Amino acid sequence: MKRLRLAIAGLTACSGCQLSLLNCEDELPELLNQCEFSFFPLACSPAELAGEYDAALVEGCLSMPHERELLLELRRRSRYLIAVGTCAVWGGVAAIRNGEDRGELRRQVYGQNAVACEMSEPAPLRNVVTVDADIAGCPPEKEELLRLLTGLSRGALPVTVDYSVCTECRMRENLCLLTERSELCLGPLTLGGCRARCPSLSVPCEGCRGPVPEANLKEAVEIYAQKGFDLKVVLGRLHRFWPGWNQ
Ligand code: SF4
Ligand code: SF4
Repeated sequence: MKRLRLAIAGLTACSGCQLSLLNCEDELPELLNQCEFSFFPLACSPAELAGEYDAALVEGCLSMPHERELLLELRRRSRYLIAVGTCAVWGGVAAIRNGEDRGELRRQVYGQNAVACEMSEPAPLRNVVTVDADIAGCPPEKEELLRLLTGLSRGALPVTVDYSVCTECRMRENLCLLTERSELCLGPLTLGGCRARCPSLSVPCEGCRGPVPEANLKEAVEIYAQKGFDLKVVLGRLHRFWPGWNQ
């Protein structure tokens, strides 16, 4: 079978999604039978784009001009382009301060002598290119990455979930942290796929996978208010991984 020719790239991000792939240590030998990591600067050198790719997996959001150029080039060269991780899909944590003056933010972080650099508000990939599939998560689950690569090697795009973390939490018969322990759990608004990782450990969901399609924000906010949560706190939590929730 012909090996899948892949490009794996990171834009503004922490590299955690790419590391999740590298952490598939037990599966890597088999993956290397199926896939050729032809462009993967985090893991291999030399790191030059060359030829065409069956798929480009892109981590991170867009905030610098050279990232935009790289993304457009990857799109031109790749049959499929996959947004990997919540930053690539929604902007993620890098976009938390969007809407604020970037010059002022730079001074706060680097001081008065900070060197200005050309930088735009962090944005998801689909603001600039057509994205063929999203793999959410901060980082995505290892199994999702393996399913993605196995599917791509057979020419198929991944089937992604369209239900909330609550659905998986109920399937695992967890105690509901929101209704039974009055904890601020974002499960009702958050895309599933992590098998309710956090609530299953009695930790409220922080919403790291971004919004579930058709998230009923209005209804959820009422439930949170009934439980005594300050609206500002709820919206602040939502904003952490899903900066565009109110657009
Ligand atoms: S604990 Fe959280 S994720 Fe689980 S059912 Fe309750 S609200 Fe939903
Ligand atoms: S339960 Fe929520 S915060 Fe935890 S991994 Fe899943 S989506 Fe992320």
